[in-house]
Amino acid sequence: MAVVNVALAGRSYEVRVGAGLLDDAIVQAREFIAPWSGRKVPVVADANARRLHGDRLTQSLATNGHAIDWYEVSPGEGSKSWAELERLTDWLLARGVTRSDHVFALGGGVVGDLVGFACAILKRGCGFVQLPTTLLAQVDSSVGGKTAINASAGKNLIGAFHQPSLVLADTACLATLPQREMRAGLAEVFKYGLLGDAEFFARVDQDSAAILACDNAVLEPVIAHCVGMKARIVAEDERETKDARALLNLGHTFGHALEAETGFGDRLLHGEAVALGMVLAARFSARRDLISLADAESVTEALARAGLPTEISALGLDCDGTVLADHMRHDKKAGGGTVPFILLRALGEAYVARDVELADVAAFMDEQLQ
Ligand code: NAD
Ligand code: MG
Repeated sequence: MAVVNVALAGRSYEVRVGAGLLDDAIVQAREFIAPWSGRKVPVVADANARRLHGDRLTQSLATNGHAIDWYEVSPGEGSKSWAELERLTDWLLARGVTRSDHVFALGGGVVGDLVGFACAILKRGCGFVQLPTTLLAQVDSSVGGKTAINASAGKNLIGAFHQPSLVLADTACLATLPQREMRAGLAEVFKYGLLGDAEFFARVDQDSAAILACDNAVLEPVIAHCVGMKARIVAEDERETKDARALLNLGHTFGHALEAETGFGDRLLHGEAVALGMVLAARFSARRDLISLADAESVTEALARAGLPTEISALGLDCDGTVLADHMRHDKKAGGGTVPFILLRALGEAYVARDVELADVAAFMDEQLQ
C-alpha cells in the first residue's frame, strides 16, 4: 500500500492506494465506521461499483458487526443533478446523519462529486470518505475537494470545495473497469507527466500496456505518483486562486470544447477529450514556438500508443474552429474577458498563458479539423 498525505491546515487527510483496500475497509476506515455502531453505515454507490465490489465492503464491515445501508446511484453523468441531490440529501437526513458523521462514496467521479457536494451542504457540512473505483477517480476526482453537480447551463457549475476525510483507492476495483474507461483515466495520468514531470510521462508511455492490464506492481506506484502531484498542487492552491491548480486543466480547455460539441456523452469520454486536448495544447504551443513540432508529435505518439484518440479530424465534427473557440469562451474557467490556456514551455513544464487570442485558436482549430 502507498500512502499520500494531503496537507491542508486542520483538514489534512490520507489517500491510501493498494490492491484489496475494500476487503480491509473495516481496519482502514475504522475511525469513520465505528461511530455508526448500532446503526447501518450509509454507503452511496454507483450501481456497477456496488454490483462488482459491494460484497467486499459488506464482508469487511460484517467482521465487526456493521451492516450497510446502500443508496444506489444510476451510472452516468445524469446522476449529477438537482433531482438526485435532493433524493440523496433527503435520504441522508432520514437516516439522521449529523455533522460529525461520515458518509461513504463508492464509485467513479460521478458518485464522488455528487456525494461530496451533498455532504458539503448537509447540515452545513458533514464528513465523507471516498472509495474511488475508476482510474480517473483514483488519480484525480476523489482527491482535492472539488465537488459538484451539473446545471442546465453547463457541467459542474453548482458545487463547493469540501475535502474528504480519507480516500481509499483499491486498485483491485480497476480489474472490472471497461478498457475504454481505463484508457480515459490513463489520459489524466499522462497529464500529470506532461504538466510537471517529463520523466514520469516517459515512464507512463513505457508502462501504458501494464497499466491498462491492471498490473498492480506498476499501477499502484503510478496512481500514488499522480495523487502525490495533485496533493502538492492542492496544498499550495486549494481553491485555484493562483496558477498552481490551474495547471491541472492542461488539455481541458480544448477538450471541454470537444465535449460540449459532442454533447458530453458516450461519443467522447472526458479522458478521451483530455487526450485530444493535450495534443492540441502541444501543437498550439509548437505553433507559438514554445516547443518544437517534434516534441508536440512525441506527445501525440505516446497517447496514440496507449490507444487514445489524437486527431480531431477523425471525430467527424460538423462545425468549424470558430464554433469550438466559442465553447472555450464559455468554459467556467474563463473570467475577466480572456480565456486562460495551459500551454507547454517544454514537455513536463506547463504554464498559464493569458495572452491567447481566440481568433488565433479558431484558425488553429480549422487546420486541425482538416
Ligand atoms: P463515472 O463515475 O461515470 O464512471 C464511469 C463508468 O464506470 C460508469 O458507467 C460506472 O458505472 C462504471 N464503473 C465505476 N467503477 C467501476 C468498476 N470498478 N468496474 C466497472 N465499472 C465501473 O466516471 P469517472 O470517469 O469516474 O468520473 C467522471 C466524473 O468525474 C465527471 O462527472 C467529472 O466531472 C468528474 N470529475 C471530477 C473531478 C474533481 O476534481 N472533482 C475531477 C475530474 C473529473
Ligand atoms: Mg479531467
